[in-house]
Amino acid sequence: MTHALEGGCLCGKVRFRTNQAPVRTLVCHCTFCQRMTGSSYYAESLFQKDAVVFNDGQMSCYAHISDGSQKKVVVHFCTHCGTTVSLTFERWPDMRAISRGCFDDPNAVEVTSHIWTQSAQTGTALPDGVECFARARMSLDGQAEISTKYTLPVMASSSSDF
Ligand SMILES: [Zn+2]
Ligand SMILES: [Zn+2]
Repeated sequence: MTHALEGGCLCGKVRFRTNQAPVRTLVCHCTFCQRMTGSSYYAESLFQKDAVVFNDGQMSCYAHISDGSQKKVVVHFCTHCGTTVSLTFERWPDMRAISRGCFDDPNAVEVTSHIWTQSAQTGTALPDGVECFARARMSLDGQAEISTKYTLPVMASSSSDF
């Protein structure tokens, strides 16, 4: 079974393609992702870095130092239209995130976890049946964190403790 996935930026100058299924697809509610997107959260599919092939559309990048790990997260965006197409990580050099909203068919990938739900914006729904992590999936020293699977959707609010 092949998993041809294609996508690109808003203006279409940057295009990518992969024949592999993502390692995982997740929604991140961290404050970095909120600010980076200017929105409520960032949805991303993680791939082995060399599994995604880009055309020659020009991208610029911005390296942000993560508050938590003090490692760089590099935002890759179309130089022409500014769409964030991809992230790369100093902490996970073999991985690349592709913005879910950049896939031609975002529903071709399935979200299986939500992370950093402790900072989810008020009114953001956390679905049932997916792994929800209050913080990252792993602690900075590499220990797996405990997740919660809700049996009904939950509405984030600033007074809740996820
Ligand atoms: Zn563009
Ligand atoms: Zn994030």
